Amino acid sequence: MNIILIGPPGAGKGTQASKLEDERGMIQLSTGDMLRAAVAAETEVGLKAKAVMERGELVSDEIVTGILSDRLDEDDVQDGFILDGYPRTPAQAHALDALLAEKGMPLDYVIELVVDEAALVERITGRFTCADCGEGFHDTFKRPKVEGVCDVCGSKNFKRRADDNAETVKQRLEEYRKKTAPIIPHYEPQGIVRRVDGMASIEVVSDAIEAILDGE
Ligand code: AMP
Repeated sequence: MNIILIGPPGAGKGTQASKLEDERGMIQLSTGDMLRAAVAAETEVGLKAKAVMERGELVSDEIVTGILSDRLDEDDVQDGFILDGYPRTPAQAHALDALLAEKGMPLDYVIELVVDEAALVERITGRFTCADCGEGFHDTFKRPKVEGVCDVCGSKNFKRRADDNAETVKQRLEEYRKKTAPIIPHYEPQGIVRRVDGMASIEVVSDAIEAILDGE
């Protein structure tokens, strides 16, 4: 099964995608993670993307579609993927249609995580991850059980995203409102759009997504 998770930054797309990876063996395709890896590795794409990402703006459609297209050719995604953070513009939605048609991959659902924007700044500015295993935490909502120690792997190294600050978050929300939200109607005629209340707890959101995937 191949799906898109769509919603503003902080809606919980990454959290839900990694749950689906654990529970269903689907593969999370986060263009943000791919770009952050390129920035860290200082590749040509990374060097181009770094400043744009730090401003909270969108990287060019050509660059992002190029890295996604290469990723879709790898073996592990053939049994099912979750797009997290792509498509983000009308041009990307059209490019994705063409890519999936060319690669013979169906799109089963577009699941929108509906959230209250007022809550997003707190959600985003408080989040951090284990630098070693990638487990996600939050200053208010999910502190490590032992202060300063990762619950999953015991690491004491944590990191925060460079763009998870209040000012950049406002720009990222603006980009979502202007460029990403308008692509949802693109998928309506196919009858594959579903909406989930993203303000509910992680478990309740996850159950709602599972029910959609199970056709309930
Ligand atoms: P995310 O991890 O999805 O919040 O993405 C972090 C940043 O990476 C965004 O603010 C953009 O600068 C860039 N980015 C990620 N995915 C895309 C995309 N599909 N199109 C353009 N820029 C993207």
